[in-house]
Amino acid sequence: MVSETDQKDITGTTLLTLGARHWCISHKQFWITEPKCKTKVYPDELPNTSVVIVFHNEAWSTLLRTVYSVINRSPHYLLSEIILVDDASERDFLKMTLENYVKNLEVPVKIIRMEQRSGLIRARLRGAAASKGQVITFLDAHCECTLGWLEPLLARIKENRKTVVCPIIDLISDDNFEYTAGSDMTYGGFNWKLNFRWYPVPQREMDRRKGDRTLPVRTPTMAGGLFSIDRNYFEEIGAYDAGMDIWGGENLEMSFRIWQCGGSLEIVTCSHVGHVFRKATPYTFPGGTGHVINKNNRRLAEVWMDEFKDFFYIISPGVVKVDYGDVSVRKALRENLKCKPFSWYLENIYPDSQIPRRYYSLGEIRNVETNQCLDNMGRKDNEKVGMFNCHGMGGNQVFSYTAEKEIRTDDFCLDVSRLSGPVIMLKCHHMRGNQLWEYDAEKLTLRHINSNQCLDEPSEDDKMVPTMKDCNGSRSQQWLLRNMTLSA
Ligand code: UDP
Ligand code: MN
Repeated sequence: MVSETDQKDITGTTLLTLGARHWCISHKQFWITEPKCKTKVYPDELPNTSVVIVFHNEAWSTLLRTVYSVINRSPHYLLSEIILVDDASERDFLKMTLENYVKNLEVPVKIIRMEQRSGLIRARLRGAAASKGQVITFLDAHCECTLGWLEPLLARIKENRKTVVCPIIDLISDDNFEYTAGSDMTYGGFNWKLNFRWYPVPQREMDRRKGDRTLPVRTPTMAGGLFSIDRNYFEEIGAYDAGMDIWGGENLEMSFRIWQCGGSLEIVTCSHVGHVFRKATPYTFPGGTGHVINKNNRRLAEVWMDEFKDFFYIISPGVVKVDYGDVSVRKALRENLKCKPFSWYLENIYPDSQIPRRYYSLGEIRNVETNQCLDNMGRKDNEKVGMFNCHGMGGNQVFSYTAEKEIRTDDFCLDVSRLSGPVIMLKCHHMRGNQLWEYDAEKLTLRHINSNQCLDEPSEDDKMVPTMKDCNGSRSQQWLLRNMTLSA
């Protein structure tokens, strides 16, 4: 099983090189799926797919493992071709060695070279343009498809060509390649910083599927690396934003666009593909990681998020200085496709979003007596919320008082579970309970509904944290909410 040519990848990890001869893992072991999926029958007549894999300086073994798993675990009549797009890698073995190697494979493998480092977005656009299959399936260059991965994806697209489908992404350890099945109980979301995050599938989606775990999950966003899309639909819906560089933001951009412009995005729970999750990015970001990601995210926010972009800008105020180039072409696309507003998306597709669709205030929460502001001090989960001089720079001093009566910053809500406090930041749970507050716009009080006590200034013992006291009308219990409006 283990080859003679181990090599180091650029993170310094030793990787084992798997070639065809070494491919002896039993198929049975790779039926990683919900038992009921095994008896599902798919039509014989399915659209075929091109598999597009982009890479920059990928390790040999992981790249070849991806290619071999596609070849070994897909019915060949469904594979139009495999397209490898080399995003200007510098490693020698990815040049002629790779080219010669793939000539002998059972499925046509085309290699396309980017002239210069372009990033995964433009590399995928190039691969898509060269593809011939009815469907395009994008994979990262360090994946492992499991037996039966492809049919469920293609069958869903055959049912509805405007459905963009993702497999369940299984976890391959970047320490030892241990393989762990991904969950069908999580789906894609994002936070105020526009980071993609996995969240539990909410009850409403479970109910819609009537408990049948073989049915696809409608997901607000996708992780981005692994998905299939009808090739013509990919074009119609605007492919990718070619103004985005290197990595980042493109997955949310595509997710918002698909939903807002009349398509749907699903996780097909009977399809599993493994992905090596890496702790650190093994390649450079020309121009700086932060700059690149902020630029991409600004393009995403400016084109798709309408007024809700404020949540992104206020929690990361430095971002507004980043030049994001010209987005007029993308705005015209949105116009032409007659896409719905972001508020529609939040209401109908992602009601459990971290960004509230309806809210009273967004900004600092200032105490009238001390003139200081609530501040999460960069600490969050399960830690006390702090008080600090108001700096007006957003970030840690941004809170939103929502129509659901939470006081939240990103994923975290002000929570009080005992009489007289403390006031902590806890993951918002939407179960009401200890996370509900009543703001009285005349008395300026923030009353915690469960305990019926009011948020108060810090005590002498600890000047850095607010307290909870019986409501008494004192100035120390008065708070000004920034950008307060009386209707949500
Ligand atoms: N990639 C690329 N050019 C880049 C950055 C990334 O071709 O400038 C490729 C990378 O090799 C991988 C895919 O894009 O196949 C996704 O990147 P990565 O796996 O680093 O993203 P992650 O899985 O960490 O989100
Ligand atoms: Mn990856």
